[in-house]
Amino acid sequence: MQTTKQLHVGLIGDPVAHSFSPRFQQPAFDALGIPARYELWHTPARQLIERIRSLCEPDCLGANVTIPHKEAVLPLVDKIDPLAARIGAINTIVHRDDYLYGYNTDALGLLHALHEHGLGEVETYNGREHISLRGHTAILLGAGGAARAAAFALVDAGVEQLIILNRNLERARHLAADLLRSYDRPIFSLNDPSFLIPRTSSIIINATSLGLHEDISPLPVETLAQFDPDTFIYDMIYNPSQTYLLCQARLMGFNTANGLSMLLHQGAQAFTLWTNQPAPIEIMRKSLMME
Ligand code: NDP
Repeated sequence: MQTTKQLHVGLIGDPVAHSFSPRFQQPAFDALGIPARYELWHTPARQLIERIRSLCEPDCLGANVTIPHKEAVLPLVDKIDPLAARIGAINTIVHRDDYLYGYNTDALGLLHALHEHGLGEVETYNGREHISLRGHTAILLGAGGAARAAAFALVDAGVEQLIILNRNLERARHLAADLLRSYDRPIFSLNDPSFLIPRTSSIIINATSLGLHEDISPLPVETLAQFDPDTFIYDMIYNPSQTYLLCQARLMGFNTANGLSMLLHQGAQAFTLWTNQPAPIEIMRKSLMME
């Protein structure tokens, strides 16, 4: 990317102030000498159409999209990548050749994060590397935009079974039905945590926003005591760094991680989509961990 004029890219959402994306995206642009500024674009729902239209300005590379707009932006872009279309949520928009393209990098970002935490094997087929989670049962808490990306990623990675637990049962059922159209795998939807049956080799992923607001929110599962000690518990929330769920899980001796690793990997892929260059991932990681 050879240009000297100031470019713009940013995060569209409501709220956006909690986001760490500028912390590691800006150093990545600076390291590669790309004159782009990563900005926070607070966008209430009523301003979404206008905001998406503004991405067509010649100096705009595109955007990230976060809560609550990942599903709402689908009809607002010109072309949708097949994975984002299957997931039904967009977290990255690229402005290229006067068109807006929608992608979802949360899915692969989550798999790379889980692999970094020691889960799954890298397998090669058709000359490409994939992360396999065969042998695991995944329990997914939530059925919103991030959960949809996680569900497709987990099933694509070969989990033996997927259990989706969400407050709004209809939303969980809808996600399970979308998955079952593409995959022949046991996929269950629940809204009552007391129906969760303990499984071995489980991965529990919190993709709800419970815990985002630092209150002592109820646990999205009734109790963790029923799970096997080698269950891995991942909370997509990274700010605050320790949600109530993670605190409880750590106290009980489970392996855990917060969503910082997913943030890094989904962001690195978005960077490559905007710039067509490999993301300087170690610079991004260092910038994210330093502050
Ligand atoms: P959505 O608004 O699309 O979905 C929110 C989800 O949280 C729904 O399943 C909703 O359930 C559930 N929920 C909200 N409040 C409650 C509550 N009080 N009790 C029970 N369930 C509740 O948000 P996203 O899917 O986009 O984001 C979810 C979380 O994931 C956010 O915290 C976000 O910050 C995080 N995230 C982190 C990423 C990372 O890189 N680390 C990437 C993407 C997201 P219901 O359907 O019943 O309303």
